[in-house]
Amino acid sequence: MNRVVLPGSTVGVFGSGQLGRMFAIAARRMGYRVHTFSPDDDTPTGQVADREVQASYDDLDAVREFAQRVDVITLEFENIPAATVEAAERFAPVRPNGHVLYTTQNRLREKTFLQQSGIPVAPFRAVSSAAELAAAMSQIGAPAVLKTAGWGYDGKGQRKLTSAAEVDDAWNSLGVQQAVLEGFVDFEREVSVIVGRGLDGAMVDYGVIANAHERHILDISVAPAPVSEPVARAAVEIAREIMQKLDVIGVLCVEFFLTRDHQLLVNELAPRPHNSGHLTFDACVTSQFEQQLRAICGLPLGSTELLRPAAMANLLGDLWQDGTPNWSAACADPDLKLHLYGKESARPGRKMGHLTAMASMPAKAAELVARARSALSSK
Ligand code: AMP
Repeated sequence: MNRVVLPGSTVGVFGSGQLGRMFAIAARRMGYRVHTFSPDDDTPTGQVADREVQASYDDLDAVREFAQRVDVITLEFENIPAATVEAAERFAPVRPNGHVLYTTQNRLREKTFLQQSGIPVAPFRAVSSAAELAAAMSQIGAPAVLKTAGWGYDGKGQRKLTSAAEVDDAWNSLGVQQAVLEGFVDFEREVSVIVGRGLDGAMVDYGVIANAHERHILDISVAPAPVSEPVARAAVEIAREIMQKLDVIGVLCVEFFLTRDHQLLVNELAPRPHNSGHLTFDACVTSQFEQQLRAICGLPLGSTELLRPAAMANLLGDLWQDGTPNWSAACADPDLKLHLYGKESARPGRKMGHLTAMASMPAKAAELVARARSALSSK
């Protein structure tokens, strides 16, 4: 089962967004064929894949047919149903496996796993009614953040509570059966660590990346993060420990809060390439996408060396509000890289692409990427 999947083989991807697209670009560059499976068509991944299968994840006949035609399967988002993974696994290995997905698909399971593994997290309680929420509020204290247990990303399905008076309204507006109440963390900054782990258990990491969010959506990432050496070491150590305990084959991103008193608290895990690692595509010897490919195929992992300090800025649909962004202006700086995901409709908040800038210092790269993004709105 653990044979190496060599170039020339076919890799399947569950999911068809921009993460799959960048994975497919990396895989095709190394001579692999890529098939993608999702309910949509003309997708960011499908546009650059060899084959795009459009079917529901619940269509297990379609899943089996897909799996029979590939040598290994990976994913670009973690909410793949367990039955889909089980059906596929009969024909091709799925990496990371269903157990990893089971844990990371649900905030409550993920936080419980982290807590039981002795990993520092913000205080939290499971809540499944307004009464339980009220009790949790009195234990955790205000402010706190109520989050749905399943299907949450980019701040969707979450709400900040500043007093017990908001409990009923918050519970009703969330409209779910299971949620998590979490202490609000007054963080100094948010950081992430991306780790790759191969079939033989070998691990590599990309160091610490600093992340700034706007409206709960990642806005700008900078590498290396401006954190002290002990904080960087501790973050990498925690991320590697999680990678090993969760037994992930592929790539894992660990998102942290760094508190004002220099404590690291894990916020979230993503068992796949992550938005904060997009800058690795241009700025590292081996991108997070190529690393995912190498890991799931059983190839030796690649160097994660950062060639130059870099910063990434997301391009959301809002930028299209007044017409097509001014691409020439953004590309005016030769150290700037433009990535667009091939999405047709530019809805506000939708991730349409990103810019990566490289410079001699991380702060300069951040400045450059922010300036280039502003230039997109110039006429
Ligand atoms: P999440 O979907 O849980 O990653 O949350 C998205 C963003 O919301 C995070 O990156 C933070 O900026 C913010 N956030 C989430 N949970 C908390 C918390 N407990 N305390 C402070 N900010 C939070």
